[in-house]
Amino acid sequence: MDSVVVVTGGTRGIGADVVRRLHAAGHAVLAVHASPDAGELEDLTGVVRLRADVADAAAAGTILDAATELGRVTGLVNNAGVTGPLGPVEQLADDVLDQVLAVNLAGPVRLCREAVRRWTADEEPAGRAIVNVTSIAAVTGSPGEYVAYAASKGGLESFTVGLGREVATRGIRVNAVSPGTIETGIHARAGEPGRAARVAERIPMRRPGQPDEVAAAVQWLLSDEASYVTGTVLRVGGGL
Ligand code: NAP
Repeated sequence: MDSVVVVTGGTRGIGADVVRRLHAAGHAVLAVHASPDAGELEDLTGVVRLRADVADAAAAGTILDAATELGRVTGLVNNAGVTGPLGPVEQLADDVLDQVLAVNLAGPVRLCREAVRRWTADEEPAGRAIVNVTSIAAVTGSPGEYVAYAASKGGLESFTVGLGREVATRGIRVNAVSPGTIETGIHARAGEPGRAARVAERIPMRRPGQPDEVAAAVQWLLSDEASYVTGTVLRVGGGL
């Protein structure tokens, strides 16, 4: 296959729609997920699932090895993310803090580092792209809800801007998509299934986004249509 894209968290929510779009556009995809169940993604020819925890320090090498077996790896989407339970900072447990920073920040940094190492060593380095999925929480801070999650996403945005500039001459583009409130199961996992509807009145468009509206932005940033775009953060937040 000419083009293989790694999508972490590719079995549910936003990631599943990213996988569907990339599959429809003719890419092979490695969809990485953490739990033993199959998630929301149907079986698609050319889409291979890999169960790997991005919080694990060894995962980046394992993931890129598995992707390389499918063909030439041209893209990486760091989409897997966890919020931890909703609540004020006094209730933030150490294990949740460690998990949020490991999944949302350290894991993506390691995957980017591994991709850049491999792509820089490649004789044909041009035409590669990374998209990191952050959150508008990076700039609002999510007071009273999950400030550590917001901080992890802020860190990933800083890393994205810096890395995009660092590798700009190597044919590798690095950008972030920053979603606002999107209707996925992440809110139930945070402890409030109805959260997306509750916060809709704060959104200028007065509605939560759909996962595919974020996936469209990810797909564009991965594509050659975005050939002059790097080191930037694209908000997909209904006006937020
Ligand atoms: P989701 O529905 O909860 O899906 C999360 C995906 O990430 C699942 O495929 C999950 O796999 C995977 N994942 C979680 N922990 C992992 C780990 N340690 N290693 C590998 N994979 C792991 O989430 P979503 O709402 O689509 O969110 C996707 C991204 O968008 C996240 O980074 C999130 O922070 C960001 N975002 C979402 C919203 C929103 O309102 N939904 C807003 C702003 C930003 P398993 O199911 O197998 O565990």
